[in-house]
Amino acid sequence: MSLVEIKNVSKKYGHQYALKDLSLNLEDNSQYAILGASGSGKSTLLYLMGGLDRADEGEVLIDGLALNKLNDEQMADYRNSRIGFIFQFHFLLPSLNCLKNILLPAEIGGHKVAPIKKRSLELVEHLGITHCLKKFPYQLSGGEQQRVNIVRALSLKPQILLCDEPTGNLDSDNSKKVTQLLKSLSKEFGSTLAVVTHDPAVAQQFDQKFMLKDGQLVNDAGRQGGDSVPPAPPEI
Ligand code: ADP
Ligand code: MG
Repeated sequence: MSLVEIKNVSKKYGHQYALKDLSLNLEDNSQYAILGASGSGKSTLLYLMGGLDRADEGEVLIDGLALNKLNDEQMADYRNSRIGFIFQFHFLLPSLNCLKNILLPAEIGGHKVAPIKKRSLELVEHLGITHCLKKFPYQLSGGEQQRVNIVRALSLKPQILLCDEPTGNLDSDNSKKVTQLLKSLSKEFGSTLAVVTHDPAVAQQFDQKFMLKDGQLVNDAGRQGGDSVPPAPPEI
């Protein structure tokens, strides 16, 4: 059984399909890029896996758990206990300093904060952002903010780390570094990593790639070698 099983999933907004009869599997402890142009359905796919939205048709199974059968409260539990999210625009709370942002999931989830704080501070040091802890998000560069965000997303050791254009706001040098960090940290934490991106340069950093077009899987680009992925137009 795969960790994530997406079976014949469709999602419509009005009359338009955002995802159409899409099936894919993600394995435990593995790392994937999902590449597609703007509007191809990448965010929708990520939101369905992360329990932020529900499929109209088909099934999303996580470790055998059918997300469509969960009520809203169970879905919130699922998100909090198993998923780490990273978005392009960080979503750090502007009124909290970085340490408080990092510890927010632990506090919301009612966890014992001390061991999570200890682990998170080690990661903060490893990522070279100790000087950011008492600062507020607006006082940090984009790369620093994204590193704080990564620590927060990993603070509860999520089973799945879902990243929506995590490097969309960074220059190419920082983009490469952040992607490498996501890969190495997800391995270290035993989290399955799924990064959706419109940027072929980000996708090239992954051995396993899927490509989306108009809400459908084009091919398993990973099986055909990275060079078969054509360049996508810039995100609008
Ligand atoms: P991507 O992340 O690849 O840019 P999305 O998953 O955001 O693509 O969107 C896929 C399609 O669904 C697009 O045509 C988009 O306009 C549409 N869509 C996404 N979210 C909504 C929404 N909340 N309401 C209406 N249409 C939406
Ligand atoms: Mg998107």
